[in-house]
Amino acid sequence: MRLDETHDPALRSWVDSANAPGTDFPVQNLPHGVFRRRGSNEAFRGGVAIGDQVLDLAALARATPFDGPAARALQAAALEHLNDYMALGRPAWKALRLALSRALRAGSAQQPALAGCLVPQADVEHALPARVGDYTDFYTSIHHATNIGRQFRPDNPLLPNYKWVPIGYHGRSSSLGISGEAFHRPVGQTMPPGAAQPQVGPCKRLDIELELGIWIGAGNARGQAIPVGEAEDHVFGIGLLNDWSARDIQGWEYQPLGPFLAKNFATTLSPWIVTLEALAPYRAPLERAEGDPAPLPYLDGEAVRQEGALDIALEFALQTPRMRAAGQPAATVSTTNYRHAYWTVAQMVAHHTVNGCNLQPGDLFGSGTLSGPTLDQAAALIELTVGGKTPVQLPGGETRTWLEDGDTVVLRGWCERAGAARIGFGTCTGTVLPARG
Ligand code: CA
Repeated sequence: MRLDETHDPALRSWVDSANAPGTDFPVQNLPHGVFRRRGSNEAFRGGVAIGDQVLDLAALARATPFDGPAARALQAAALEHLNDYMALGRPAWKALRLALSRALRAGSAQQPALAGCLVPQADVEHALPARVGDYTDFYTSIHHATNIGRQFRPDNPLLPNYKWVPIGYHGRSSSLGISGEAFHRPVGQTMPPGAAQPQVGPCKRLDIELELGIWIGAGNARGQAIPVGEAEDHVFGIGLLNDWSARDIQGWEYQPLGPFLAKNFATTLSPWIVTLEALAPYRAPLERAEGDPAPLPYLDGEAVRQEGALDIALEFALQTPRMRAAGQPAATVSTTNYRHAYWTVAQMVAHHTVNGCNLQPGDLFGSGTLSGPTLDQAAALIELTVGGKTPVQLPGGETRTWLEDGDTVVLRGWCERAGAARIGFGTCTGTVLPARG
């Protein structure tokens, strides 16, 4: 994926807040989402984040600032759901990115036309950026797979298929929610240690999974596999994803068919999708340990090895009700990085379609819990607490083994590299409410 003028780190925007050091949304980013003014009954429509503002693409489309492919792309990106825009494919996404980049740069003649289309991010609410037909959750962190495996099989933590197959399962799209949501602690069936029989009640081991959400763009015809070398042309972009997990329900139900009710009650997504174009400066070589098998040919390629990974820093932070009452922000619990994943985005797409399975615009992949190589880089409480044995320490003396009612989890992600602008993903937050009585 080539860099072009839109990645130039020297670019500045006439939107002042987009030039602030540390902003997630400089003019080099331009992530897509859908929004409306908070508390209004306006229609949701497409927007692009710039600094602390949202560029209202529906208002912009009415002003017809662009010609040709960028104008057609803008019409689709302005809709209430981004599926049609995602279906257009990379040439359309690149055309709109270039047109928006030029129009938002300092000195642009189009500033007057765009300035009236800005809405402060502080005044908006978001919906899911697309209608998600299908949601698939992968398991691409070998460190997560090993940490979890060790708790169940200390002598043989990693199953023999892991280094050959990008493991995944089909999740549920109806319970996908947008950042800022609150949901009730799930109720379910568990088998407490030493109990004579299972019981039903509120989950006692509620956990998070810090993941990335990979949004599919143009799909494929059923029966037609996507070659790994073309796979990224089918990927629109990436956001943050929290795959809330009920570990006690999971432990009792997961054999032999895998997760079911332990996972499908809530999955929270960040509102902004950072495009693969914006992520181009942060490519990294695929990490593989010495002696690991080469991927099978349908999962292998020069691009996969040289630049298949993405250097995305990730953070899991937690705010308890006591912290919130004291005005304390969420405290960092762990930090990790997507570059440690064992399988790349392209490999996930190639594997998902090798049997002829058809992907559709707006389909969503979870990356799997993105734990890094050391335990302090673990991306779920089950790892950080070693299965619930060592609580996490929080500022002010509080501890957490599992999530408690009222806890808010905040996920963040960002990319930084010398010679490139820093870009970010915004936040993905969710709050646990008590179980329904
Ligand atoms: Ca997961």
